[in-house]
Amino acid sequence: MRRRILLISLLVTTLAIIIYSLVSTQLYYNITVEEKRDSLAVYVNAFSPEDYSLDNDGAKAFSALLNGARVTFMTAEGHVIGESEAEEIETDHSDREEVREAISSGEGYSVRSSDTVGRDMMYYCAAVNVEGTTYLVRVAETLTSSWSMYVRLLPSLAVFFIIDILGCLVFTLIATTFILRPVEELTREAAGGGIVKTNHSELSTIADILNERNRNIEWKMAELEDEKKLVEKAQESKNEFISNITHEMNTPLTSIKGYAELLSSGMMSEEQKQVAYKTISSQSERLTNLIACIINYNEIDDDTLPPYDVDLSKLAREMIEVVRPEAEKRGVTIIDKISDNVIVKSRHELMTQLVGNLTRNAIRYNKEGGTVTIELDYKHLVVSDTGIGIAPENMDKVFSRFFTVDKSHSGKNGGFGLGLAVCRKICRRSGWRISVESELGKGSTFTVDFGMR
Ligand code: ADP
Repeated sequence: MRRRILLISLLVTTLAIIIYSLVSTQLYYNITVEEKRDSLAVYVNAFSPEDYSLDNDGAKAFSALLNGARVTFMTAEGHVIGESEAEEIETDHSDREEVREAISSGEGYSVRSSDTVGRDMMYYCAAVNVEGTTYLVRVAETLTSSWSMYVRLLPSLAVFFIIDILGCLVFTLIATTFILRPVEELTREAAGGGIVKTNHSELSTIADILNERNRNIEWKMAELEDEKKLVEKAQESKNEFISNITHEMNTPLTSIKGYAELLSSGMMSEEQKQVAYKTISSQSERLTNLIACIINYNEIDDDTLPPYDVDLSKLAREMIEVVRPEAEKRGVTIIDKISDNVIVKSRHELMTQLVGNLTRNAIRYNKEGGTVTIELDYKHLVVSDTGIGIAPENMDKVFSRFFTVDKSHSGKNGGFGLGLAVCRKICRRSGWRISVESELGKGSTFTVDFGMR
């Protein structure tokens, strides 16, 4: 930037100096020409026919009076009759500009470049009357040519040029300091990442752009930070998931392995063998169930099938009939508060899982003689029971994967702590909210809010 400003200012000032010197030389030259013409006119006026003969000798004598200026005498028609410089051989000068003018108007002048380099010749010619006859008297002197005047100027031009370079350097330094300092300050502030401000209106667009960039960078950084947290969370959750599965699988596997070893040792009674066969069979079934539950849980995420209108009223009533035998076995009464024609956007198998899990839990975690109430309208699905309830500290956790309040119960009746996690996933897919209210020993209420106003 500095170099460019220096170059431009040098170029402009140098051009200005050259143009100015050319113009002023030309003006000075013009003035010199005018002065020379006037002085030559004075010379010719000084000619008196009585003192000089109109031949070469007369011309030389007159020339001597005029400090060696060249003198030519001609007839009125331009024929040379006397010439102060002997080498003159031409005799007819009528074609010369100054002579032509003098013939026609009484006087004339012209400037011609001379043989000598850097010098011009100025000719002044006037008509003179000698005893009734007209003659022409021409006086010529050398004149410094405009080019040679310019060449003479060159040393002083060089001095000017050096002064110009120095001036331009100082100017560039001051200009760039004043121009660049605010820009540098702006850049430094912007590099710091904050919001920059400037008092210079010319820089406000740059400041706006920098601020916009900084804001974008901040947003991007925040987004990246969020993404990083999500990835970390996902990794944590994956690790936790694997550790839970391993744990859940370990119990049945240990028991299968133990009984298998005992059986192979051949040291078991027939009765003990029967127990071993039963345990191995039930534990294998538990493993199969666990695997099925995990596959089901994961499939909900991968499922891209489109939702459609599901008659939830019909589905919930059918579900009551499915679970009724289990309820009766536990002495639990199911109360139906289902409104007709409640239609939701989901899929049949998902709604079966949602209603099924909530209802089965309400029966399973109930007390002898308790009740389960299923309420349904276009806003909510509410499954409440008069069962064992959930402790306040576990309320947030019941929807987490593999969470079971009573660990000893885990695995029995397929309870791996995935049922409510599946319910939460299904609700999230549809944009519904699932929540729980409960009092330990008194019962729990699970509510699915369809988000309808
Ligand atoms: P599980 O397969 O163990 O039932 P869930 O995810 O369905 O898994 O439930 C998680 C835990 O929440 C259960 O182990 C239980 O302790 C508790 N829970 C669920 N529903 C109820 C309920 N209606 N009453 C009391 N506790 C419940």
